[in-house]
Amino acid sequence: MPTQPNNSHLPFGDQRTAPWYGKDIISVKQFSREDLEYVFAVAHEMHDMVDHVGTFDLLKGKILANLFYEPSTRTSSSFTASMERLGGSVIPINEVKYSSVAKGESLPDTVRTLECYADVIVIRHPEVGSAAAAAKASRKPVINAGDGIGEHPTQALLDAFTIKEELGHVDGLTVTLLGDLKHGRTVHSLARLLSLYKVKLNYVAPDILRMPAELIEELKSKGVQQEEFTGLDKPLPATDVLYVTRVQKERFTDESVYESVKGAYVIDPKVMKAAKERMIVMHPLPRVGEIAVEFDDDPRAAYFRQMEYGLYVRMALLAMVLGKA
Ligand code: ASP
Repeated sequence: MPTQPNNSHLPFGDQRTAPWYGKDIISVKQFSREDLEYVFAVAHEMHDMVDHVGTFDLLKGKILANLFYEPSTRTSSSFTASMERLGGSVIPINEVKYSSVAKGESLPDTVRTLECYADVIVIRHPEVGSAAAAAKASRKPVINAGDGIGEHPTQALLDAFTIKEELGHVDGLTVTLLGDLKHGRTVHSLARLLSLYKVKLNYVAPDILRMPAELIEELKSKGVQQEEFTGLDKPLPATDVLYVTRVQKERFTDESVYESVKGAYVIDPKVMKAAKERMIVMHPLPRVGEIAVEFDDDPRAAYFRQMEYGLYVRMALLAMVLGKA
């Protein structure tokens, strides 16, 4: 009989019995609060390792397939950087138009192909449920990097990590989500993830871009305190985290409707005078005018630091699903 591996030297060991080994990451619903603490602890270690040695061999010999059917800068390049900092390598498929997808290949067939070459598959696709469908077709772990207006779980994990690192805790905070709450997958995932904590959630959006009613109901049934606004004036003074989002142009069928809401909110130094001195402003990026560049030098502007936290969280997730953490 094989002897049981000794887990005492987690988070970095060769642990085939590690809790996330071989698992897909499709939705934040898969995470308990305990899981989050674990991800954050591993991400913290990753940060230390990157600071001290830059690149190390935890995932040496492992291959990631980065399959992007929608544009991406941060998610795609941070997964590549994560894999390479851990000593692994990447098959990049950012331009599906140059792959067999352009010949009409189905998502399951593309995934079945990539699993022959790679140990883990990261996928971004315009359809809700596409990552789950890919995971069903694949024997290798699949990580959802955004499925249309559905979810973006790795972004929510890095967002929660950012809040914890920047403000020291999550419980007790007032988090205000602003912008396109209807189509923004990052806010859908983040609101769900924050429901694991004792937070107050404010939703600020134009009427046609409100947070989906089903999601509000889902969180209500978990006892989360939520309030909706169309303007920022009222919720801003009590806000600890202001999470700004872009109006998602690509989700509109009528461009004139997009034009009517695109400039609904602009965060600038003047608006931010009404906010606390100790609070943070986050944005999953890209921004297209919702945060003025004049605000970038304010210490509360956390959106560039947020990107860096993303590297450590994605390193942690790759190590976890590949059984090394
Ligand atoms: N980069 C984020 C996403 O992929 C946010 C955005 O595109 O506005 O969802």
